[in-house]
Amino acid sequence: MTGKDPKAIIKIGEALLAQMSSCNLCPQDCRVDRFDGKTGKCGITDQMYIASCNLHYGEEPPISARRGSGTIFLSGCSLSCKYCQNYPISQQLVGSACSVDELAEKMLSLQKRGAHNINFVTPDHVVGHIVKAIGLAIEDGLEIPIVFNSSGYQKAKTVRLLKGIVDIYLVDMRYSDNEIARNCSQAKRYKEVNQAAVREMFRQVGNLQIDTDGVGVKGVLIRHLVLPEGLSGSGEIFRFLGQEISADIYVSLMSQYFPAHDAVGHEQLGRRISPSEFDKAVEMFYTAGLKNGYIQEMR
Ligand code: SF4
Repeated sequence: MTGKDPKAIIKIGEALLAQMSSCNLCPQDCRVDRFDGKTGKCGITDQMYIASCNLHYGEEPPISARRGSGTIFLSGCSLSCKYCQNYPISQQLVGSACSVDELAEKMLSLQKRGAHNINFVTPDHVVGHIVKAIGLAIEDGLEIPIVFNSSGYQKAKTVRLLKGIVDIYLVDMRYSDNEIARNCSQAKRYKEVNQAAVREMFRQVGNLQIDTDGVGVKGVLIRHLVLPEGLSGSGEIFRFLGQEISADIYVSLMSQYFPAHDAVGHEQLGRRISPSEFDKAVEMFYTAGLKNGYIQEMR
């Protein structure tokens, strides 16, 4: 038993779906009628698309753990990152049409295959579909935790509606400078929006809780990808986390950046980060008083 009320969750999902008639689900505030076939920045009408649905073993240790994370990759994204490694899915919309009922069935099938959790990658622009499907799946026996693997460009108002539905927020903090965020990802006011979303997530679920088997059950895990030329503003993000959220917060500090998509040949984004750039980010992590998390090896 999850202690979650499926009927209440379905209602919240339907309320979020209704917002798509003049879509304001995310901070892009496109105000298009997605039921009428119109698309905003995310590129998706009211028809949801799924690029993949499988057990994934490459997430952070408490997310993938031993049996894998039940990962459902949604097509489309409200950000347009120049360097997106998944741009065929996020920006070119590769994927197959999927209904809310089918999504609920996919969750149950992943649970049956032994997934530790259901991990929605890039859920923000189809949050209504997902929440309704979660309610339907719970009615049919879904018990494992729900992970929202989000870009962090989410309205705090929308996040508030996810209280008691989402168990783990695996959330990006990409930039601490709005101009850089606008140039690299076409996001307005990224810093304030992102910080407000993280505050609300932490208020709901707190720090990451890991059971005795090493499996995450609840909480926030921040992801921070270090970009070349200091574009990711790591020091300011770590200061915010250490001073305004919690020095105990878990952070996944990632060195894996490589130029993809429109970053190829780009003046600043067109190269991998250097070992010294990553070392500097690690130093800033500790200087900010942070201590929990996962530091990726340089490749
Ligand atoms: S979810 Fe899509 S259409 Fe709606 S506001 Fe965001 S980017 Fe625009």
